[in-house]
Amino acid sequence: MTLCSSPESLDAVIRALSGQTHVFLDCEGRTLGEVGGKLSLLNLGVMRQNGRLQTFLIDVLAFEGARSHNLTPIFEVLRSEQVFKVMFDGRMDASELLHGHGVQLRNVLDLQVADIASREKRGQNDNRRLQRLIGFLPQHEITRNRSLYLQVEKLNSLESAMVEHGVPGSSKGYVDHSRWLQRPLQQSALQYAANDIHKICLLYSKLVQKGYITNATLIRQSARYLALHASARPGGNDKYKRHGLFPLAILPEANAGSLVRCGGCQRGLPASCFAQSGSINRTNGFCFVCRAIDAKSGPSSVATSGHRTFYSRNLYDDFEDLDDNFEDFNDNFEDFYDGFY
Ligand SMILES: [Zn+2]
Repeated sequence: MTLCSSPESLDAVIRALSGQTHVFLDCEGRTLGEVGGKLSLLNLGVMRQNGRLQTFLIDVLAFEGARSHNLTPIFEVLRSEQVFKVMFDGRMDASELLHGHGVQLRNVLDLQVADIASREKRGQNDNRRLQRLIGFLPQHEITRNRSLYLQVEKLNSLESAMVEHGVPGSSKGYVDHSRWLQRPLQQSALQYAANDIHKICLLYSKLVQKGYITNATLIRQSARYLALHASARPGGNDKYKRHGLFPLAILPEANAGSLVRCGGCQRGLPASCFAQSGSINRTNGFCFVCRAIDAKSGPSSVATSGHRTFYSRNLYDDFEDLDDNFEDFNDNFEDFYDGFY
């Protein structure tokens, strides 16, 4: 791991990046990508010829003001169609880079999207999809309104994706996210940032090995995913934009027909993302995902309260319990399955 806070150290990064076909990318900062967000570390990993991962942590705060031009070559790599970037859940990173630094990421594979896409390849059935929602929603709600959740995918955190795909070394570690703008950064924070790059590299290798990353479709799907906050930074308490569910209409290559604007996430979505007339009152003009958010938290209760009770510092709080109880959920799967029959 190399911390880069001088122009000379950036030269070393640029030398290491030259000729690389793919780069592992991750960001750290204060409320990254949200209203009021700020980038602290821009982290890059490259595979050296000896097969070992080399990680650079670029101290973005060291290149503010008159030194900001030093970051231009790095940002060009992020914008480049020629360099393939690998991230895990790059939505907020993409928002921060775009709204904070004018950097439009291109040619990115988001492993969180690859994980979702792999579920179909692994033959995931409706019951397994619904099982993932346990913990996010009460089981009785999923059982009662089963048809409303058949398109709703629960996202994995990086760590839970590693567990699910059999990648060792998934311990989460701890860092105080409120301190990313302090300097000097503690060694433990630097290690945490470097570990994330390492974990992204390990998961990528496993998904390639399993044959889940084979074509350009995932790049286009990732681009749609990373563009979710392209129009504006989301507010930190916007429960319809900050949650642990996979937004609809990211995977399909073409959305036929006219689009309907969702009353929650405000995205224009195909009619298939909404319950059809007859049960339309049950979704009230909200897409299946936003309806699930309401089923968890109550309609608009958080959005209007001003309290961040739904989204705390870690987006994945929603499913940390699921990580901890991964074995238990597998054990309980039969009981859950029985609940539908
Ligand atoms: Zn919605």
